[in-house]
Order: sequence, then structure tokens, then C-alpha cells
Amino acid sequence: MISDLVSGKADLQKMKCKNDDFFAKYGTEVRINKKVTALNISEKTLTLEDGEKVSYDKLLLATGGKPFVPKMEGQEKDGVFTFTTLSDAQRLAAKLIA
Ligand SMILES: Cc1cc2nc3c(=O)[nH]c(=O)nc-3n(C[C@H](O)[C@H](O)[C@H](O)COP(=O)(O)OP(=O)(O)OC[C@H]3O[C@@H](n4cnc5c(N)ncnc54)[C@H](O)[C@@H]3O)c2cc1C
Repeated sequence: MISDLVSGKADLQKMKCKNDDFFAKYGTEVRINKKVTALNISEKTLTLEDGEKVSYDKLLLATGGKPFVPKMEGQEKDGVFTFTTLSDAQRLAAKLIA
């Protein structure tokens, strides 16, 4: 929905695939912007970048992927954007408003 965010058809709340009640209902603790930096499979723990250790019973790794951006002339110029992430959309929207 990043094109909808840029065009103003959607806001951040609408972009959430599930609202906060959904996660509370299923006993899920959501942690945003918490990078996992280490995994200890024998201890069944993972470590977050702020040092916090989190234990688990079962672990699903779903880290996605990052698209490759081929080298193109002028790609470093102001006003050239990729269109992949929320922050891309926010940067583009800010540029359109400016
Ligand atoms: C611009 C764009 C438009 C798309 N449009 C559609 C569409 O219309 N329909 C459709 O079906 N699909 C679409 N897709 C594809 C779809 O978004 C992906 O297939 C899907 O999001 C993959 O889900 P995922 O859970 O595997 O990975 P992701 O959604 O990439 O989620 C992985 C998550 O893991 C997190 N992560 C990675 N490493 C760490 C770490 N060390 N610690 C903590 N967290 C970490 C990442 O920050 C990310 O939040 C689109 C993709 C893009 C880029």
C-alpha cells in the first residue's frame, strides 16, 4: 500500500495488516524496530541489539529479503527513490510536499 500512502489514499493506521487488538487477542507481543543480532539454538534464546535476551519454545525465522538495486547513472541524485519500504514512501511523500 505504499503507493496509497504516497497518494494520500491510506494513512499509517490503514497500512497495518492487523490492528493492535488482533495481536493482543492471540497473546502476541509485537516488537517493532528491534533487530535480532544473535541466536543461541541450544539455549533457545535470541539477543536483541540492545542486549535484551528473549527465550522461545519454537522459532520461526522469516527475515524476508532485500531487493538488489542495480548501478544506474544518476541514482545518487536528489529526487531518485526506490519504492520498496515504508521509509521510501515517506521520503517520496515528503519530497512531493516540499
Ligand atoms: C514494493 C512491494 C510491493 C509488493 N506488493 C505485493 C502485493 O501487492 N501482493 C503480494 O502478495 N506481495 C507483494 N509484495 C511481496 C510481499 O511484500 C513479500 O512477498 C512479503 O512481504 C514477504 O514476507 P516475509 O514475511 O517473507 O518478509 P518481509 O515482509 O520482508 O518481513 C521480514 C521482516 O523481518 C525483519 N527482519 C529481518 N532481519 C531481522 C533481524 N535480524 N531482526 C529483526 N527483524 C528482522 C524485517 O525487518 C522485516 O520486517 C510486494 C513487495 C514489495 C517490495
